[in-house]
Amino acid sequence: MSFKLPDFLNWSPLNTLREKMGAPLTDNFVLAPISSKSNIMDQLNAGGVEIDLDEISVHEDGTLLYQGYRGLLHIRDVSSIAGDTRMPRFHLAYCQTLEKMQKNARFDRYVVAQTTSGEFKVNIIDREEVVSQQVRLNVCQNCLDKIHWKGFSIPGLSRMERQNRVDVFSLPEFFEKYPRDLIGKKTLHTSTTAPLNIYSKDWPKLSKEIRHKRGHKCESCHQSFSKDDSRFLHVHHRNGLKNDNRSENLAVLCIACHANQPEHGHLRAHPDYKLFMTRQQR
Ligand SMILES: [Zn+2]
Ligand SMILES: [Zn+2]
Ligand SMILES: [Zn+2]
Repeated sequence: MSFKLPDFLNWSPLNTLREKMGAPLTDNFVLAPISSKSNIMDQLNAGGVEIDLDEISVHEDGTLLYQGYRGLLHIRDVSSIAGDTRMPRFHLAYCQTLEKMQKNARFDRYVVAQTTSGEFKVNIIDREEVVSQQVRLNVCQNCLDKIHWKGFSIPGLSRMERQNRVDVFSLPEFFEKYPRDLIGKKTLHTSTTAPLNIYSKDWPKLSKEIRHKRGHKCESCHQSFSKDDSRFLHVHHRNGLKNDNRSENLAVLCIACHANQPEHGHLRAHPDYKLFMTRQQR
């Protein structure tokens, strides 16, 4: 059930009362975010918050920040091929892997969490079946290298030694050294944090508008998409500059046509691509 709240600024019963009381109409309303501090913490602890990479910023020590909290990041959706699933690693720093992902696999769905158990929520996609599971994931070695966790170094340690370190890695210990809560220390949006963002801030909204304006159609193969299938319809930046949102630089493409663009082959590895291709075959 849903209902609409009245616009209290223009609601005559309230305004009449206000005038009777002689109360002035305040003009500096601040809309407080609905998600309170404890709310975000709860969500992060409960199993993660689904985010876009551009909602993450990087602390000067290399760790990852989400709304003022240190978090762990992993790809939520993994595909299973003939029952064989390659599990993602979880990241605790802006490592080489994330740098690469930011460049290439930007349609992946990320989850940020603060678990200390080492278990993360993962969706295993087998053809069209999606199974949601809590899975134990290993920490990313590039991350350990990035923050030099207890002297961890990829070039400096043998493969076996590195694996041993991954096996004994302790999240409670990590969060002890790197506290989860940074609010109050004012680390967000200062010069010491660099957002990963390469898309403009209003990109999700803009992308939606463009798809709507252009009739929810792929400009290359002319296939139409319903609202439910909008995840298969992308907005592509022709010149590769994700901040260049001039209309002529944007092309609305289905995931298949998008994957055919230069340097977009990585899209074929995306679960959405496989799902889309399976549907097309029907
Ligand atoms: Zn990493
Ligand atoms: Zn593109
Ligand atoms: Zn297409």
